[in-house]
Amino acid sequence: MEPKPVVSTVDGDVPPQPVPVQSPVPSRYESQKRRDWNTFLQYLTNHKPPLPLSRCSGAHVIEFLKYLDQFGKTKVHTRDCSFFGHPNPPYSCVCSLRQAWGSLDALIGRLRAAYEENGGKQESNPFGVRAVRIYLKEIRESQAKARGIPYEKKRKRKCLTPSAREGSKAGAGGASTSSSAATASTSATASASARETGDGSAIAPP
Ligand SMILES: [Zn+2]
Repeated sequence: MEPKPVVSTVDGDVPPQPVPVQSPVPSRYESQKRRDWNTFLQYLTNHKPPLPLSRCSGAHVIEFLKYLDQFGKTKVHTRDCSFFGHPNPPYSCVCSLRQAWGSLDALIGRLRAAYEENGGKQESNPFGVRAVRIYLKEIRESQAKARGIPYEKKRKRKCLTPSAREGSKAGAGGASTSSSAATASTSATASASARETGDGSAIAPP
């Protein structure tokens, strides 16, 4: 009654399909996250007066991001600079180097995840508070103008806006945003992160 196809009845005739195995090696993201977390803990230790993680607020996180600016590698032009709004200036200028918004955004995503993985509660996560999101948004907009890079392109597509909002509400928003950004420009993000790591370890004495 059941006309079975011949192929399926022949055992061993079909080569076994390779099953994708998840590698146990920690990913680049995981090791980066661990380094970022150690850098942040080091920052808290060096803070004057020393700042316990339990008392760390969004304001302290923003302070940390500003502190990292001194190790930045991204030229952000001031309004007085003639290259303000130029993505590829032909000459160098005296404008200071900052941490690129993309690096900070990805960093916050990793630290937010690390905080909760290290026993922090989601509701007290200083990396997920509104003030930090607003700060990052301001950085994004100001750097987009100064560097002539249209981060705001997404805004024109209305379908992307709600998902972005959802992402930031969903706790892992930063991480998912940064990972999708990383997919788009993996090498750029990776090199930026690598630099950041170098900077991070530089501030922590061996
Ligand atoms: Zn400049």
